[in-house]
Amino acid sequence: MITSDDVENALRPAYAHIAPLLDAPGAEFYLEQRVKFPSIDGAFGTADLLIRIGRVIDVIDFKFGAGVRVRALTPDGDDDVINAQPLFYAVAARHSLPKFFVGVDKIKLTILQPMSIESDADMVSSVEVTHAELDEFIAVYRVACTEALSDTPRLERGAWCRFCPARPICPAHTAPLLDLAQFATPTPPRTPADKAAYLQALAAGLDLVDAVKDLRTALHEQAKRALENGDQVPGYALSAGRAERHWRDEIVAQVALLSLGFDHDDIIEAEVMRSPKQIELRAKARGLKIPQELIASARSGVSLVRAENVHAPVLGRSETARMFSEALKAFQKGGKV
Ligand code: SF4
Repeated sequence: MITSDDVENALRPAYAHIAPLLDAPGAEFYLEQRVKFPSIDGAFGTADLLIRIGRVIDVIDFKFGAGVRVRALTPDGDDDVINAQPLFYAVAARHSLPKFFVGVDKIKLTILQPMSIESDADMVSSVEVTHAELDEFIAVYRVACTEALSDTPRLERGAWCRFCPARPICPAHTAPLLDLAQFATPTPPRTPADKAAYLQALAAGLDLVDAVKDLRTALHEQAKRALENGDQVPGYALSAGRAERHWRDEIVAQVALLSLGFDHDDIIEAEVMRSPKQIELRAKARGLKIPQELIASARSGVSLVRAENVHAPVLGRSETARMFSEALKAFQKGGKV
């Protein structure tokens, strides 16, 4: 579901950046284009937007999530590391759309992230790459794929594991669970000499608990995705978040409440309108009634819960599609839905 906040905070700013590029004289573009990486079977992806203006191609990747800040170029010590994802799309696009790339001498990789967890982050981050750098990436990527698909892939924990579907079963992450089984809660030291070992044991225990929490998050995310895709995860279900009430239109509500006898201070605090709940409490104390049409209600997000705790079930995409298709057939036959 796309909310009006999504439109204002994410879609509109992203569109404001790309509209002048799309409107530039002679601009050509591909949107949501499936592209194949050269020389590696099964390596493909969908490039969000490719825009060509003259001899320049902009490979644009939209990031509408706010959890992790993503840049086209990340400083790493003395080096700058180019983000591999837009590099992958650029290489695959050049391979899949050779005519589109004829005569191009500048390739720009751009990440557009309108909502970042870092409030002062720039929305646009770009880096220019050459054809030679794309060729170099093909070689590096091929080596990495060969190793990853071998019988003895190297496991290396890092920030990238966050997006890895193998994380719940990856030995680099599950090993701490074995340590946890043998872990004994440390007891406070009797003598100052034991203090360092005690503090070290506390830190080790906290690290173990963090590792288990990470695993919980990974399992949670995957179970949610499976349910969204229409699969069954025994004992678990998706539930819509709690209903949150808000003013349908703050200006209209303020005018209406003032005319009903509320004071300015009943309605506004520090230049912000109080919530429906806060004003309801004041209304009760003063014997006033708030017209319910001033208040709207929306459920916040979707969460994974134990099946017995579902209070507002959410259907997976395939179930929704199936029901929609059945309803449509019934409608076309003139039957009742
Ligand atoms: S979770 Fe394991 S397999 Fe996946 S990227 Fe991390 S170390 Fe590699």
